[in-house]
Amino acid sequence: MHNNKTQDNKKSSNITIIGKPNAGKSTLLNRLIGQKIAIVTPKVQTTRSSITGIFTKDNTQLVFIDTPGIFAPHTKLEKAMVRCAWSNVAGADQVIFLIDVTKEFDDKSIEIVNKLKSRGILPIFVLNKIDRKKSNIEAIEKVITDIINDATLYKISALSGKGIDELVEYLQDKATGKEWLYGEDDITNLPMRFLASEITREQLFLQLQDELPYNLTVESEAWENLSDGSVKINQVIIVNKQNYKAMILGNKGERIKNIGTKSREEITIVLGLKVHLFLFVKVREDWDNNPLSYEYMGLSIN
Ligand code: GDP
Ligand code: MG
Repeated sequence: MHNNKTQDNKKSSNITIIGKPNAGKSTLLNRLIGQKIAIVTPKVQTTRSSITGIFTKDNTQLVFIDTPGIFAPHTKLEKAMVRCAWSNVAGADQVIFLIDVTKEFDDKSIEIVNKLKSRGILPIFVLNKIDRKKSNIEAIEKVITDIINDATLYKISALSGKGIDELVEYLQDKATGKEWLYGEDDITNLPMRFLASEITREQLFLQLQDELPYNLTVESEAWENLSDGSVKINQVIIVNKQNYKAMILGNKGERIKNIGTKSREEITIVLGLKVHLFLFVKVREDWDNNPLSYEYMGLSIN
């Protein structure tokens, strides 16, 4: 494995990123890793399960976990998502509570702080989107320091990268783990077939309106490495209503063609290989109640 000379002073830390939907958690993860592994859209509830991103610098390995947002869940899937976010808090060495400074630090946010506090967790408060004109930085800082006087606070723009180096330095400095769980060059432990289906789901979120993206899931069914070095991927978009299928296909199949083209371009970048992508749409009325769908997403159903 690793040679003993560097092994001696190795450090590591598991860092979970939580926050409300759209705070910028996935954007932050991608920024930290320097590569896109978590999908990002302007819509809420894009991230459904925990996405691990690994960043190794010098003797320190930081393992970040991006989580679904913390919000009041209604459906079974939403409940599983919020449960997933909280369950990743328990195993973390450090917790980043990411806050959107363009929004109010409302009662729900205070509730999250109190819930963390009651579990003996002091999060690192990271104020995000400081590139935006509309900003409540001072008001948010005040509310936080009223609850925790000596709160650790950072201000960043996950989008532009401002403030990220300072945050990483702090995380490196506070790392207390002694072991590396991953190789020096690893950036994620997620299977490529999962990442590829997430990229298609991102396109579906970006190109479809209203409730449609929330009523579908994507799975990579077949993955074949061809002799010319390219890869052939079959993915199935699973929807819970027949009329959704028609909406995804679009007029003369135009829409699914666009989705496939964009997704293939993105997957090509991530894999660094030529990609042949084939998309299929299937109706499975109860996919959002099916343990296998949850397993694929990395969620537990109960
Ligand atoms: P998540 O739900 O917390 O994972 O949030 P996302 O990472 O998916 O981001 C939600 C939206 O906020 C996307 O449209 C991002 O481009 C945007 N966003 C994230 N970070 C920043 C930032 O630092 N500045 C600005 N202006 N927008 C951001
Ligand atoms: Mg996200």
